Amino acid sequence: MPSLAAVALALALLGLAGCGPERTLYVGGPVLTMDADDRSVAALGVEGDRIAFVGGDAEGRRWADGRARVVDLGGRALLPGFIDAHGHFPGAGIYVVHVDLNSPPIGDIERMDELVARLRERARETPAGEWITGWGYDDTLIAEKRHPSRADLDAASTEHPIVLFHVSGHLVTTNTLALESLGIDRDTPDPVGGVIRRDAAGDPDGVLEESAIELVAGDLVQPGLFDTVAMVREADRLYLASGTTTAQNGWAAAEHLTGLSWLSRFGLVNLRMVLWPGDVVALQALDGELELPAGNPPWVRMGAVKLVADGSIQGYTGYLKRPYHVPPGDDPEYRGYPRIPRETLIENVSRLHAAGWQVAVHGNGDASIDDILDAFEEAQRRHPREDTRHVVIHAQMARDDQLDRMRELGVIPSFFMLHTYYWGDRHRDLFMGPERAARMSPARSAADRGIRFTIHNDTPVVPMEPLRSVWAAVNRRSSSGAPIGPEQRIPVLRALRAVTLDAAYQHFEDDEKGSLEPGKLADLVILSRSPLEDPEHIDEIEVVETIVGGQTAWRSCTGSGDCD
Ligand SMILES: [Zn+2]
Repeated sequence: MPSLAAVALALALLGLAGCGPERTLYVGGPVLTMDADDRSVAALGVEGDRIAFVGGDAEGRRWADGRARVVDLGGRALLPGFIDAHGHFPGAGIYVVHVDLNSPPIGDIERMDELVARLRERARETPAGEWITGWGYDDTLIAEKRHPSRADLDAASTEHPIVLFHVSGHLVTTNTLALESLGIDRDTPDPVGGVIRRDAAGDPDGVLEESAIELVAGDLVQPGLFDTVAMVREADRLYLASGTTTAQNGWAAAEHLTGLSWLSRFGLVNLRMVLWPGDVVALQALDGELELPAGNPPWVRMGAVKLVADGSIQGYTGYLKRPYHVPPGDDPEYRGYPRIPRETLIENVSRLHAAGWQVAVHGNGDASIDDILDAFEEAQRRHPREDTRHVVIHAQMARDDQLDRMRELGVIPSFFMLHTYYWGDRHRDLFMGPERAARMSPARSAADRGIRFTIHNDTPVVPMEPLRSVWAAVNRRSSSGAPIGPEQRIPVLRALRAVTLDAAYQHFEDDEKGSLEPGKLADLVILSRSPLEDPEHIDEIEVVETIVGGQTAWRSCTGSGDCD
């Protein structure tokens, strides 16, 4: 056994042998910097966890000075790691706990009996009395074109309470035992901003909309500690495999804020995270009822406070100015509804704004976006502030006059661009009609106004695939291949900016992340080729390696034995 002195001597020698932090030089492929001039260069040097050199090949080799590990990209492209502008990390790991009920192209459920069979399978392996939860069903993609009813779910089990989340996350459906356990019956009134759907006899039919979801008390469907860690690990892997280096949680309860901060400290999350406290916790913090955690910068940061002003258009709960194209019921004038009454929204936004918060509000329908912009304007009138970077999350049906207001107010629209792909055909034929569908997620109109906007995946609503989002912004085609508003297409670099530098800007992190410039964090992604070539097939580009803080956090198995 070596003596303590020998160990100390060995450590000292090791220390002498290394000269400062580790250096790596990337050469041999295009380096898309995403800097102010959109420069593409030939070499990038990393020292420790920061970018130290950006420039030409020969210069780069001089910088390396024989001391750097040299990585030959072999024609592959190096870009800033993708930054999630809005999602629900670790929701991507949700199927560790929930039954996967997605329909094609994401999953395989095409008919109601398949959905029921999938649940029956889970019921067989679950002790009676325990909750069964599912995620991702889409009423418009099941052959029957309706939500699973209480009766459908009773056919899966009457011994397990069942709750299923609609793919939008804005509705749930339940079986009889779940309704009984929750104490919901024909006498339960609809909560403010929500609906308990009822059958002809006046009994709840199982479907709960918007704020009525809160009746499904969180504790009942909260996974335990081991499942939570498994979910987080799975989500971490999926995000890194997509080239994402900063994840986002866009409505966190107090326990999520604390839990994710600790999991990061313990090294169970290899990504960086930006967490948005939900309005409930933020208002409690303002009232002095709780203290928000500080995070763990630069790994975990607290970002904007998040409010939800309406629902989801594909769930018929988005709040529109004009009626839905094909209304969901008998009322031809049906326009959806606000989730927060307008006056409450204005008061809460003003209070949070006055307290110095960045405020992000979910709004899909244009009537909802009117309310949100009124709230931002009123907050600014009462308490003028510089550089607020308030956000309209989704801004799906933002009209031109609303984009003008956003520019004036310095508001960032964050578009859920894959709506054109996953729901494009149904937005055109069912929810909004051809004219409005062509204008949804109007990135081109925003770009033409010089507005900085971001693009997000809202995972787990759809899988975490920033490159598919970029492809959607550039090509705007539905899953059937139909063009959805080609006049709103944007150039590749503009779309890439929305998932890198402008996403960092939205998070107030553009001095640290989002472009490849000396001094910034070395959060990088290596792609199988440059997205600037063959823009029509950006969705086929493979992520080869993801680097966070100068360290390889994920590597693809293709062509290499050493991978995750
Ligand atoms: Zn969301």
